[in-house]
Amino acid sequence: MTGPSPKDWVKAIHPYVPGKSATGSGMRAAKLSSNENPLGTSEKARAAFAAQAAGLERYPDGGATALRESIAQRHGLDPDRIICGTGSDEVLHQAAGAFAGPGDEVIYVRYGFAVYEIAIRRVGATPVIAPDRDYATDVDAILAAVTERTRVVFVANPNNPTSTYTPREEIARLHAGLPDHVLLVLDQAYAEYLEDDEDDGGLALAMSASNVLVTRTFSKIFGLAAERIGWGYAAAPIIDAMHRIRLPFNVTIAGQHAAIAALGDEDFVASSRAHNAKWRSWLTAEIDKLGNAGLRTLESKANFLLVLFNGAVTAESAYHSLMERGYIVRWLPGQGLGHGLRVSIGSEEETRGFAAALREIVGEAA
Ligand SMILES: *Cc1c(COP(=O)(O)O)cnc(C)c1O
Repeated sequence: MTGPSPKDWVKAIHPYVPGKSATGSGMRAAKLSSNENPLGTSEKARAAFAAQAAGLERYPDGGATALRESIAQRHGLDPDRIICGTGSDEVLHQAAGAFAGPGDEVIYVRYGFAVYEIAIRRVGATPVIAPDRDYATDVDAILAAVTERTRVVFVANPNNPTSTYTPREEIARLHAGLPDHVLLVLDQAYAEYLEDDEDDGGLALAMSASNVLVTRTFSKIFGLAAERIGWGYAAAPIIDAMHRIRLPFNVTIAGQHAAIAALGDEDFVASSRAHNAKWRSWLTAEIDKLGNAGLRTLESKANFLLVLFNGAVTAESAYHSLMERGYIVRWLPGQGLGHGLRVSIGSEEETRGFAAALREIVGEAA
């Protein structure tokens, strides 16, 4: 007996590998592998979440009306053009599902976010990888990869796992070079970590263009990864198509309330951004000191660093040695980054501890 046969395109999917939460030895560990907020979440969000424990028998508002209105108010958008998802991961899947299928091509950059390939293959479309430029998004390479079969382009900005940022003029040039029938998805999961004068123009573009979808998440700076809440903003016909394939009750009641409260707590967001900026630049400088051992980081605009290894200590051996010392980071050989480790900016204690552990590991090998 062979049983039902999965579709060929489903068989071609490499399952998503999440960041590890434990070292395996049972020791207490610093989890620096999933870009979570080391400051936790807003106390207001926590209280709003807890207050919903009384109504567990009720379905949520499937349209997430109040949450969409809060998001719209915060960013000056039309709530009818916002769609919510079970994490922004679901919104990315909705975009692929509504606009691509067998025979279609979907482009993303080499070292792009791992979910894109899964979302593309899931619907039977063909992933097309555009080469990077020193790990960063190369607009010319993306435009050169466009064919008449291209339906969607996914760009994360800042990108994960590279932490690189594509400036506003480049995003505008990318959009200007794409045919009107190609949907440009700008994944802004880390946008809140940018400085006030850094804006890739995605929301403004999505406001006026007929083919731009911006996605955001409550999982990163808002510290609500457990609740799985994301959203997308685009022209009405795009959002309408995505609603057709959205699961009817995809965002929980508690999640909707927590997200609304989180949006209202600007102090928490500001202190998270400040903490991240301070320890990201501190850790970058610490790793730069290990340059003669072949380590370097890319300039990060997000809440993590990508550390590249090109010396006696390999990323793989450092990964295991860090794990033994209680620091869990992300090693990404499956994404062509066998020579890199992605490390989230943790608390002060975690960040100092990680740097000391890495120094030790590099020192021992010298
Ligand atoms: C973390 C992340 C997301 C979203 O995660 P959700 O928890 O599903 O909202 C989306 N894109 C990128 C690039 C990310 O790093």
